[in-house]
Amino acid sequence: DPGEHSSQGEQDNRHFARIAKVPMLEPTNSQEAYELMEWAFNISEEFDTPVLLRSTTRISHCKTVVDVNKERKADLRQPSFTRSPAKYVMVPSNARVRRHAMEERIIKLQAYVEEFPLNEMLLADRKLGVISNGVAYQYAREVFKDASHLKLTTIYPIPANLIRRFAQEVERVVVVEELDPYLEDEVRRLGIAVTGKEFIPIIGELNSEIVEDGAIKAGILTASPKPSPQSSSPAPQLPARRPQLCAGCPHVATEFVLRKLGFHTAGSGKELKEGEFIVTSDIGCYTLGVYPPLAALDTCACMGASIGQALGLEKAGIPNKVVAVLGDSTFMHSGITGLIDVVYNQGSTTVIILDNQTTAMTGHQGHPGTGISATGAKTQAVELESLVKGIGIKDVNVVDAFDLKAIESTIKRSVENDEPSVIIARGPCILSVKTKGTPLEVDTEECVGCFDCLDIGCPAISVLEDIACIDADMCVGTICGVCIQVCPQDAISEGKR
Ligand code: SF4
Ligand code: SF4
Repeated sequence: DPGEHSSQGEQDNRHFARIAKVPMLEPTNSQEAYELMEWAFNISEEFDTPVLLRSTTRISHCKTVVDVNKERKADLRQPSFTRSPAKYVMVPSNARVRRHAMEERIIKLQAYVEEFPLNEMLLADRKLGVISNGVAYQYAREVFKDASHLKLTTIYPIPANLIRRFAQEVERVVVVEELDPYLEDEVRRLGIAVTGKEFIPIIGELNSEIVEDGAIKAGILTASPKPSPQSSSPAPQLPARRPQLCAGCPHVATEFVLRKLGFHTAGSGKELKEGEFIVTSDIGCYTLGVYPPLAALDTCACMGASIGQALGLEKAGIPNKVVAVLGDSTFMHSGITGLIDVVYNQGSTTVIILDNQTTAMTGHQGHPGTGISATGAKTQAVELESLVKGIGIKDVNVVDAFDLKAIESTIKRSVENDEPSVIIARGPCILSVKTKGTPLEVDTEECVGCFDCLDIGCPAISVLEDIACIDADMCVGTICGVCIQVCPQDAISEGKR
């Protein structure tokens, strides 16, 4: 994810292939993404190896017409298992033997990629030779129009001889690639003089402008006069839209309670007051609760980290109570081991499982708690209450995710407990609710414009002429009703339509 559009890590995962000694392919466009998948399966069969097919942000998101091979068919064989403990049981004595097989395979793959048809050498102006991979190839072609190009789709192992041949054909070699100087280092290791990260940023996503600017600054390209601002129409100014939870989201009330009711004060660099909570979060829609006005979260590292961080803070002797917040899907995926750790290590953490009964953030997939299998079939649901009790949590409470009073009193009670506790805040993801309620309305006579209702961060509520206003197209009605509970004037009620 160069540019970290939807992740917290910008690791260059090309390195994984080298570390694991597993072949990696990477497309430069949609057509290659389609074709390389077949190549990946064939390489896997031929060389008896897993194959990584890498796709970064722009390749994953772009849509182009793809020529489909209708004759392409999978070789449907009868599944079978051939017993071979020497291959499948990786005790050290077997692993030492397999280690040799791995190196032999890489040598064979090195020879194989030299002739790989989707690696492509395009010889044009020999003064400059550009080596690139992935989407960076598209930018390189656009910016260095007259240059010679070497497009690499085999990222590991690299075709060393092909690169050497290309370097012999051109006067100067540059590498254009996103993130780390992965190819650049490989090329340099071949004894070839190469330029790359001197002019291409190591951080963030590239585009043609960034590559062109870098090349001009490095003296590889000369600046061409840009069209004057008058001759091109100005880019449209789109309204800013900050990331926020949906109208009617069942996570809002819990995050609102954690912050608004004094358990947690938003802001950086502040010493915590006595009685204030630290809130460790996980990865999910609810992570959006870090943004104002909710601003309810203190940490978020990786999937499953919330409970481990809470226990770690407690064991490190931080005097404030720590509350871990994570979703039902995340808990099933990687929160269970953290909770076992809390019980085993005699922690007193309160864990709030925001149970919206789906995996909302990634597109409403099922998970073991939903009773829907990965194929969409009905299956046995793992019940959260029984699961956490089975782990050894005695203080388990289920609350209505839209009931502010119940959430507040339960959190207050649970954090006072010296034993670990779990609160399951249950309410459906509003996007999976088929029939919404009648939208709520603000009584313009009663509303005094205090804007307490804005503090819940519901996108359906805004300000209109000094009083609050509810967007009837967004509001889901009393299924949610959180704003009714925060309005001190009872100015919000069900609308007429
Ligand atoms: S909380 Fe109630 S009184 Fe205050 S602005 Fe909102 S609707 Fe009006
Ligand atoms: S306006 Fe009130 S009831 Fe409607 S979605 Fe927002 S918080 Fe819920």
